[in-house]
Amino acid sequence: MIAGTVLSGVCAYAASGQAPPEVKLWRLDCGTTYIADLNIFSDTRAYPGQGKALTASCYLVKHGDRYMLWDTGLPASMKGAKIDQKTGGAMITKTIVEQLGELGIKPEQIELIGVSHYHYDHVGQAESFPGATLMIGKRDLDALSATPPAFGANPAALKTWIGGPGKSMPVTGDRDVFSDGSVTMIDTPGHTPGHHALIVRLGSGKTILLTGDLAHFQENYASSGVPTFNANRADTLASLDRFKALARNLKATVIIQHEPADIAKLPAFPKAAE
Ligand SMILES: [Zn+2]
Repeated sequence: MIAGTVLSGVCAYAASGQAPPEVKLWRLDCGTTYIADLNIFSDTRAYPGQGKALTASCYLVKHGDRYMLWDTGLPASMKGAKIDQKTGGAMITKTIVEQLGELGIKPEQIELIGVSHYHYDHVGQAESFPGATLMIGKRDLDALSATPPAFGANPAALKTWIGGPGKSMPVTGDRDVFSDGSVTMIDTPGHTPGHHALIVRLGSGKTILLTGDLAHFQENYASSGVPTFNANRADTLASLDRFKALARNLKATVIIQHEPADIAKLPAFPKAAE
């Protein structure tokens, strides 16, 4: 079904004689966190006594003249917050709107917000884009809308779309965002029930795979570690298995969104990967 959708999109451009729209990808800085007890990311307790600094990353996709954000990072209210190296914490240095401003892009130009899942460090600045359509896994949308909301799901951070006037697009399975195979939300449940990763095929033909929170750092990805707070262990392992096979088969560059060492896999802002 996915292959059919991808093929029909590609064929539509071939039939019209038009070149497919150019696709570019920017990495935005959406904050920093310090995790004082790394074992929260391992239900087999692989990291006793260890702490680690993680990054929070968001991404801007340009498809022709259309813009999509992938994840919206930590809340803007954390700008300049202090991080305690003993107890942990989170902060941002620049908002998404400020970074878009450096690219000459206004918030109203963001047509789509895709979120990997509902955790606070991925939906934090969504409300800066109330006119955008929210693309989110249907099971995550259901968890946000439940009474009470699921653990870790804060509907207040998405109030424009949860019970508000914003347009949301619940995603079941995979979703070919622009109907041409260039950007695809990949169904990878486990961390949360409706978690998604993202495939971006750039104009150059290079393929980037963004993990969402399928893994939080490189060793955790390599060892298929499962965080203690995931919604479902079996789903997490199945999703990691699928994601790694996709990465191999597409010869993709895998970017773990919270891994500081993966920032350099994309050009440094304000440069885009093309
Ligand atoms: Zn996260």
